[in-house]
Parts: sequence; structure tokens; C-alpha cells
Amino acid sequence: MSASPPRPLPLTAIREDVRAAAAYAVPDATGLIKLDAMENPYPLPPELAQQLGQRLSQVALNRYPPGDPAPLKAKLARRIGLPDGMQLMLGNGSDELIHLLIQACARRDAAVLCPAPSFVMYEVSARLNRCRFVPVALGADFALDREALLAALARERPAVVFIAYPNNPTGNLFDRAAIEAALQAAPGLVVLDEAYLPFAGDTWLPDLARYPNLLVLRTLSKLGLAGARFGYLCGAAALIAELEKVRPPYNVNALTLAAVDLLLDHLAVFERQADAIRAERARLFAALQAMAGVTAYPSAANFILLRVADPAATCAALRARGILVKNVAPMHALLAGCLRVTVGTPEENDAFLCALRASL
Ligand SMILES: *Cc1c(COP(=O)(O)O)cnc(C)c1O
Repeated sequence: MSASPPRPLPLTAIREDVRAAAAYAVPDATGLIKLDAMENPYPLPPELAQQLGQRLSQVALNRYPPGDPAPLKAKLARRIGLPDGMQLMLGNGSDELIHLLIQACARRDAAVLCPAPSFVMYEVSARLNRCRFVPVALGADFALDREALLAALARERPAVVFIAYPNNPTGNLFDRAAIEAALQAAPGLVVLDEAYLPFAGDTWLPDLARYPNLLVLRTLSKLGLAGARFGYLCGAAALIAELEKVRPPYNVNALTLAAVDLLLDHLAVFERQADAIRAERARLFAALQAMAGVTAYPSAANFILLRVADPAATCAALRARGILVKNVAPMHALLAGCLRVTVGTPEENDAFLCALRASL
């Protein structure tokens, strides 16, 4: 009996657009100073890390997480000052919430609109959910182009609009009045993505009561818990109740729920770290501004966008000197020449500045 020839792998079962796409690339940072992903460079203080270990050791990993972690949501709502009548939806990072939100709205020919350049996951999730993706180019100095935005809202009637506040990768806070005009004109949901809230000093949370179509998206990633994967969406209770229907049960794991529950009692630790990062942001920005051959853009986030003559070569030269930053130039025409660098510790920032001088 001869063995039958092996069947070919059924790769064609997978959607053409998925097969044509590239997986989200995360570069190996082993041995490098990691300034590419907007992480908080400071670890937990040792006593708090020990307390966390204790707490996590008590989690019943044989059990599923609670179906609705109501006590944790109530604690979070108190900590952030969630307005009355609003509710929270928890996600495995805000990336998951972006995906679920679009999925809930992705009827045939639905559009997802956002300023461009902005956070890549809006486009990735829109396309995976077969939505039309409508980027609206930013204007000079990366400001919102109010007229273009209002025209696109009227023309495309998007189901969802995403506005990162401050924007990634440009770092700026958009004009409030332009956003309010968009909130008034938008026919569907408008998500204000406040991933960089700890460094921004401004929020739309109190505005939830004024705009029924407003949702505020946040994450603990940039605050210092990127590894825990915890994001939350705030909005009118009835709206959140509908969105909850697309959330996979147990999407936030029990270890993360326990960690967040403990760390919400120690937010001052993270706020002090954010203070240090903001102070370093000012120092790094001043040093970059003073550097010949570099244009630095003001930032309300924990990263700085800078323009150089040859971003690919500069990025490679920095890497050769042990510094990992992100070359964002290929992302959008408006980002020609641009690199994005995360604000690190004072020592990391000094190493970056020194390597950049040598790399230009
Ligand atoms: C980093 C980032 C996120 C992703 O946050 P996670 O909670 O880690 O998934 C969301 N939005 C913007 C604008 C970001 O820059």
C-alpha cells in the first residue's frame, strides 16, 4: 500500500485580503534601549510588585473570570469620575475595544473615518470588518482640517469616527472647537481615544453628558501596564449595553482583573512616573529643537515626532548604536522624514540624544 500524496494546505480557505496583508510587526528589542512603543520606562516599585505577586497568587486560575466584574468597574468609575448615566466596557487592551466597536457597526458599506495620519489599528480593524476606511488628511502642523472633516462627514456618513486625543503619531491635541463641530455633525458614533491621557492634561469624559454619540476610549498601557492588556470604553449606558453584545465572554483575563483591582489603589505611583515622563518630554523636546538638521513637533503625549533628512538611515544608525525608535515615514505622505521616539528615563533619553547626534 502506497501512501497517498500529502494534500496541499488549504490556504485558499483564508480570505484573499487577509492573505495579502502583513502581520503586525513587533521588532525584536533584545539588548536595545526600547523607545519605539510608548511604554512607560519605569517598573513597579519593589514593594508594590511584591504585593501584586501575593494578590495574583490568590487568583483561582481554574475558574473563568467573573462574567461581569461589577465591583472592579465600580471602583474604576469612581477613580476616573465617570459621569452619572454612563457605563464602562472592559477590553483586552483598547485595541480589542476598537475592533469590537467597529464589528458592532459593520453593516454592509458602513464607513469608518479618522484623521490621517493616525493610529494604525483604526484602519486595520475597519478593513478586517470589511468597512470602508475614510482617512481625512490633517492640515498644516498636523491640525484637524475642519472643513475637510465636515465635508467628509456629510459625504461619507460614517458609522464610526475615531479621533485620537492627543494624536498618534503626531503627538498634538486637536482643536476642541473642531472636534465639537464633528460631534455635532457626525451621524454615528465618535470615539475620542485618550490613550495618552496621563500626559495630556485634557479629557472629554465630562463631555459625555453633552454628546449622546460620544464614546471615550482609554487604556492603562501608556500609564505603565502595557503588558497587562487593559482598556476601557466609556459611554451612555444604553449604548454600552448594545456594544457588550459583541464582547467575547471572559475577554479580560482573571490575572489582569486582579492586577488592575490592586493597582487602582496605587494610582499615585503611576501619576508620579507620568510627572517624571512629562518633565523629560520637555527636556528632550528642547534638546531636539536645538539640534541642527532636526525638526521636533510639540507633544502632549509620551513620545515626540521629529523630522530628519533621511529617516530610514537615521533609524538604522540609531539601532546600530543600541536605540530602537519607530520610522513612521512610510505610514503617510505627511510624515515624510519623520521618526517617533518614546520619552524614556533621563539616562535613556541622554543615550538617544547622543546617538542621534552621531547618526545624522
Ligand atoms: C497605543 C495606543 C492604543 C493601544 O492601546 P492598548 O490598550 O495597548 O491596546 C490605542 N490608541 C492609541 C491612539 C494608541 O496610541
